[in-house]
Amino acid sequence: MKKIYAEILAIGDELLYGQTLDTNSHWISGELDKAGIKVIRRTTVGDLEQDILTAFAEAETRADIILITGGLGPTSDDLTKPCLCKYFNCGLQINEEALAEITQFFKSRGRELTELNRQQAALPTACTKITNTIGTAPGMWFSKGDKIFMSMPGVPHEMKKMMTESVIPKLLEKFKTPIIHHQIIKTVGIGESFLADKISEWEKSLPGHLKLAYLPSLGEVKLRLTGMGSSLDDLKHDIADQINKLKPLAGDYIYGYGEDALEFVVGQLLRERRLTISVAESCTGGYLSHLITSIPGSSDYFLGSIIPYAYEIKMRQLGVKPETLEKYGAVSEPTIIEMANIVRAKFNADIGVATSGIAGPGGATPEKPVGTVWIAYSDKHQTVTRKLQLSKDRMINIRMASMAVLNLIRLSLPPKS
Ligand code: AMP
Ligand code: MG
Repeated sequence: MKKIYAEILAIGDELLYGQTLDTNSHWISGELDKAGIKVIRRTTVGDLEQDILTAFAEAETRADIILITGGLGPTSDDLTKPCLCKYFNCGLQINEEALAEITQFFKSRGRELTELNRQQAALPTACTKITNTIGTAPGMWFSKGDKIFMSMPGVPHEMKKMMTESVIPKLLEKFKTPIIHHQIIKTVGIGESFLADKISEWEKSLPGHLKLAYLPSLGEVKLRLTGMGSSLDDLKHDIADQINKLKPLAGDYIYGYGEDALEFVVGQLLRERRLTISVAESCTGGYLSHLITSIPGSSDYFLGSIIPYAYEIKMRQLGVKPETLEKYGAVSEPTIIEMANIVRAKFNADIGVATSGIAGPGGATPEKPVGTVWIAYSDKHQTVTRKLQLSKDRMINIRMASMAVLNLIRLSLPPKS
């Protein structure tokens, strides 16, 4: 099936100045993807005639569909409409239907129509008007040979409504698009290049209609399998087949699929096993507990936490032995073992976990550089520890240490009985 290509053109000086984030292009990309239309480029230009005309011409050489947002306001800085007239070699004319709609728009708000507002009903004669049901700038649909140009307002909620109600249905009427289906496979505990090494043979053997992407973020790597075809069922089946082949290679590193967050998956595992958990977190300062409790229903398994940040609190409130702290220091394996065991016992939980480390930027010693973190997991059968060597960045260390504990819980939990 022929692929249908689209480009998105965002117009507005404010986007280039860094004053307004171009959320329109991001959103439009997602909608086109769902519709089976492949976005091949996104461009941002300012309110400058020559730049806009050049962007139109360039996009036309590459794409079947050119979606434009912005530059449709009634004021003289907005140039999209005159540029469209130039590009399609036509004049502006008051569109009576658009004028009636705009008049009604102002009337319903008890306001008079100004001449500037009236001019919003003046449309290039070459276009088909697309009604803006919640604003005053109509959309404009142009056909040029096999290509479509569609100009929409920059105001995000107006653009979105126009896209969903009119533009996507019209595009699907005109173009026969393939089905695009994505499946996200989430991994944790392994870096992108190590993972790529492990699964390289599998990747090479993927059939032509499935593409793999690596999407790394803090502490995890997402794999995205994208399939293109004519049947959603076939695509889902082909992707499931490939995931089954991937599992033996990446098995333990895979923690979930789709939108599942690690804290959600860990919560599910605890709930299924009817286990409770308590936390003693020093260097993560509450962030781990925050992640756990951000999941609705976490009260089923989360009992509570203590943040024994200071030495004295580690000793007096938690109960770590002074000898352990003196001999090995707060950031050490003996201390983290005590922290996890004690918090489990104190809270009468099935599982205790703990963190202690040097988040930075200060506090380092030659033996314990910034980013040194000890974590521990304790249940009635075992205590498991890990030493992490993370980064120089405090927030990254806090987040990554918390993710590492969640992963340690996932990997250490007793099997479901
Ligand atoms: P305009 O159609 O150029 O008059 O744009 C109207 C308003 O929409 C602007 O002031 C921005 O706040 C907003 N806007 C324009 N383009 C974008 C975009 N690409 N992403 C998000 N907001 C936008
Ligand atoms: Mg503008």
